[in-house]
Amino acid sequence: MHAIQTGASLFVGLGNMGRPMAARYAPGRELFVFDMDPAARATASENTGATALAGLDSIPNHVSTVLLMLPNSRTVETVLRGQSGLFARLQPGSMIIDMSSSEPGSTAALAEEAAEAGIAYVDAPVSGGVTGAITGDLAITVGGTPEAFSAALPHLQSMGTNIVHVGKAGTGHAAKALNNLLSATTLAAAAESLCAAASAGIQPETMVEVINGSTGRSQATEVKDPRHILTGKFDSGFAMDLMLKDLRIARKIFTDNSLEAPVVLAAESAAQTAGEHLEAASPDHTELVKHYERVNGLLLRGPRAAHQPTKPVAQP
Ligand code: NAD
Repeated sequence: MHAIQTGASLFVGLGNMGRPMAARYAPGRELFVFDMDPAARATASENTGATALAGLDSIPNHVSTVLLMLPNSRTVETVLRGQSGLFARLQPGSMIIDMSSSEPGSTAALAEEAAEAGIAYVDAPVSGGVTGAITGDLAITVGGTPEAFSAALPHLQSMGTNIVHVGKAGTGHAAKALNNLLSATTLAAAAESLCAAASAGIQPETMVEVINGSTGRSQATEVKDPRHILTGKFDSGFAMDLMLKDLRIARKIFTDNSLEAPVVLAAESAAQTAGEHLEAASPDHTELVKHYERVNGLLLRGPRAAHQPTKPVAQP
């Protein structure tokens, strides 16, 4: 393996997460940015002082670190493979850090292809949402060789505070999907609890206060319920489609290994059903609660009669 070089960096994918992450990453570095959306790369360039590339074919030779924050594995594969892909354009000794939430199997295969080209490959998906991206407090789970992890660490420290080396390439993405499965499970379970509370004559805000002072609390009840759900804003910046992608990745780990998981897989199934019934073109993942409102005939946010269900709640 070639020694990992330190040169200029390129950040690819400047959406809800990539934009603030690139802003955190830019200071003190020679940075190039690229997004397929010209407006996104122009904004990122303005915000960070980085040089926007019009296409990946114009990547300068001295770029040795590439960070990806893309929607899914198919996009990552497109950006890396083929004649115009980055595998063919980067110098041996370069490093690719995929910070997207990607599929572990795809990541392991890409890491092998990268190694053949003398390129180090690290998966480093993040948790903490847009808020964590803005403040630089992301949690980052890393997969890759110990050498690649050490080389990636100074880059990751610009964007995150809780950085864990999980294991070989792909394990960071597996750990991320499993975390998000648990996160979705608590989001769904909290929605169910709030519906039952409303039916028992307890206001959702009161129930959230009770949970957050007790053992049932989670990030769903401490952040999502008060900030994004009960306000009716549904503005976490993490799309339902992206959450469903994470859940599919997590489910595959269970099914590939023939594991029983009735609790988390029920939550995954509820989220899939909820996603199918939402009307917005790109709903926020916190809109999961609307599914529970719909099937239970309740309204948990805004003007409501929380303790007066619009349809009878089933009795045990
Ligand atoms: P996003 O859709 O807001 O941004 C994705 C960006 O990638 C867009 O700007 C899009 O134009 C760009 N893009 C798509 N295809 C491209 C290509 N071929 N070449 C260059 N650019 C391309 O998504 P996001 O919310 O920023 O999420 C990005 C990744 O981070 C996803 O994998 C997601 O699952 C993960 N993630 C998101 C959050 C969140 O809160 N939004 C939190 C943790 C992890």
